Amino acid sequence: MGIYEELGLERIINASGAVTRLGGAPMPKEVLEAFRSAAGGTVPLEALQAVASRRIANVTRTESGLVTCGCAAALTLGAAAILTRDDFGRMERLPDCDGFPNEFVIAREQRSGYDHAVRASGAQLVEVGFNERVANAGVRRSEAWEYEAAFGPSTAGVVYVFAPHAQPPLAEVVAVAHRHQLPVLVDAAGELPPRSNLWEIPATGADLVCFSGGKAIQGPQSTGILCGRRELVAAAFLQMLDMDEHFDLWSPPSEFFDKEKLIGLPRHGIGRAMKVSKEQIVALLTALERFAAGNNEEERATQRRVLETIAAELALRAVACRIIASADNERPPHLEIQLDEAELGRSAFDVCRQLRAGSPPVYVGHGQLDEGTLVVHPLCVDAEDVPLLASRLRDELT
Ligand SMILES: *Cc1c(COP(=O)(O)O)cnc(C)c1O
Repeated sequence: MGIYEELGLERIINASGAVTRLGGAPMPKEVLEAFRSAAGGTVPLEALQAVASRRIANVTRTESGLVTCGCAAALTLGAAAILTRDDFGRMERLPDCDGFPNEFVIAREQRSGYDHAVRASGAQLVEVGFNERVANAGVRRSEAWEYEAAFGPSTAGVVYVFAPHAQPPLAEVVAVAHRHQLPVLVDAAGELPPRSNLWEIPATGADLVCFSGGKAIQGPQSTGILCGRRELVAAAFLQMLDMDEHFDLWSPPSEFFDKEKLIGLPRHGIGRAMKVSKEQIVALLTALERFAAGNNEEERATQRRVLETIAAELALRAVACRIIASADNERPPHLEIQLDEAELGRSAFDVCRQLRAGSPPVYVGHGQLDEGTLVVHPLCVDAEDVPLLASRLRDELT
């Protein structure tokens, strides 16, 4: 019996990819091994984060990095770092920002539920631009001058949510912000692959960039990366780590700052509620370097075979299957299952619901249900579950 069965739970087949609701991506074997061996020993977390900082900086070609507990925590910590810089008084007061600038300018069209993580620091979002294209009330996207027009004495920085077609281009926003000495915090949680985004997004000059560790990188689900300018990452480091130490005995790693320049040791900061464990840090580094090395030809071929096996099983009247591969071959391919809902007599929503309700429960990608399409992502599907997945889909679609 597996661990989940012992707990009285039925294991599901996750055909919807590395979604957080279903526990994210599986950790590859070498990542799990790193996790296990790190859990078996002890080192000071500060020293471990210093190593992580160098390794992350190396991969992302930035000055400094930090392992956080998810990209969401990286956003909270990044915003906190921009709000406080090296001011211990401010660190102590967060999320109360009375008396210092706490506005972050963001394009209205880039707002999402994830920016709660930025606001959790005490930051206030100031929206610019409109969402005219979605409203079908105009042709223009957000423009760089709109950020500039919103800057004022209460502005602390800019938040930018990176996406392949995000507008205005990040480099333009960085240029405008830097003209006013304002830092830019980038949410790039799910923008991997392509691997090159690990260094190309920071190369725009963005001051802090946040990635998820538990999505495509396939590190522990609750890890993330904050990377960028050393002084800002250091401010995040100070507000995240446990501070129960005597100043005299404390020897913070020189990667982040010179102890001589500090006025003392701050108390626990806003990030103390977002700690990461040593095994998470080590596993994330292993996963990051594995991901950055690329070379996924074999993985892609295996994933494609999985989708072909399923598609072959679904040669049915009311169903049309299409395998979509990414142009650069860095992303896993996925399978679109287009339903003829009238012919089938059921909607894609109904089928999705039934797939979850059956045994074993099957979760497919649900982003295109309103177009009558189910999506199968191979990343989190166990090889041994493929025949079962194919037959459950066939049963529901016949
Ligand atoms: C997933 C995601 C996050 C949160 O990342 P976690 O690593 O799960 O904390 C933040 N922003 C965006 C755009 C995301 O897709």
